[in-house]
Amino acid sequence: MRAVTVIPGVPGSLRLLDDYPEPPTEEGSILVEAVAVGICGTDLEIIEGQYGEAPPGTDHLVIGHESLGRVIEDPTGTLQPGDLVAGIVRHPDPLPCPNCAVGEWDMCRNGMFTEHGIKALPGFARQRWRLQPRFAVGLDPTLDEVGVLLEPTSVVVKAWDHIDRIGRRAEWQPRTALITGAGPIGLLAALLASQRGLSVHVLDLATEGPKPELAGALGATYHSGPLDQLDFEPDVIVECTGAPVVVLEAMCRVAPTGIVCLAGVSSGGRIIDFDAGALNRTLVLENNVVFGSVNANRRHWDAAAEALSRADRSWLGSLITRRVPLSEYASAYSPGPQDIKVVIDFTV
Ligand code: BGC
Repeated sequence: MRAVTVIPGVPGSLRLLDDYPEPPTEEGSILVEAVAVGICGTDLEIIEGQYGEAPPGTDHLVIGHESLGRVIEDPTGTLQPGDLVAGIVRHPDPLPCPNCAVGEWDMCRNGMFTEHGIKALPGFARQRWRLQPRFAVGLDPTLDEVGVLLEPTSVVVKAWDHIDRIGRRAEWQPRTALITGAGPIGLLAALLASQRGLSVHVLDLATEGPKPELAGALGATYHSGPLDQLDFEPDVIVECTGAPVVVLEAMCRVAPTGIVCLAGVSSGGRIIDFDAGALNRTLVLENNVVFGSVNANRRHWDAAAEALSRADRSWLGSLITRRVPLSEYASAYSPGPQDIKVVIDFTV
């Protein structure tokens, strides 16, 4: 069968193989036919050779961690043939650590977790894959066009879950949320903020293209100026750019007792002249919290499936700015300036 692979650590090694082996039954009892795979910055880092790890005993890694497929067969009866399904990205470490032992593999403490398409597990950019029932998330059948957004949605559900948990340290009645960055993660974080009834603000550099309109369709206020010139202090900031200056400004700008969730990954290596003492003073004197958030566990994936099923299908569809057939896979990994989410379509 066909599969998109890389040799981790080797830039430019992205290939479409025609003779990749069928998924072995040890991978899981649920056999799935691929519908779509979404592409994100992590995939681009893997292709550039900066990230990623092949499964033991092989040089190749099938790429792709944002999945959508249709069940071909499920002898366990968990799902029915034809059901839409997505695969959970991370598997717990084998020890397991205290968090993985209770299913909170998104909080793995020893780094020995594995991730489909990223770290030591084959990804979903192949025509067929298999899942164990506990890593298979069924989707509402009406999400066939947009269900590939489940993985990035699970990541922001986890971010909001941890914001809630941190908020419960004291009385917590947030009203305003600022999302920095209007890429797929930022817009999905804004969707969840609007589903919670918060007053939502989205900040991004783009002044044209689909982003302002997509934010507006959620009822959010769109800003394209500098964060330090906003005329309000948000109770919650979900930082989705990873841009170092925006990260610092977010920490300085959040309201007293506010929470800043860092969900964007910086590349590192940029040195900034910054008054760390003043930041420390503000964080302490205002009881602010800054925390990082990555990945998602089963609870978050199930809540993400629920959140997507409540969302407007055409708004979700507008996040997918390009659908590329598998035969043209390489172009999917070169996002254009107006692209939000690009997916490889396995059905054409
Ligand atoms: C994925 C996460 C993963 C992280 C680090 C992100 O792109 O969405 O599931 O944990 O990369 O590998």
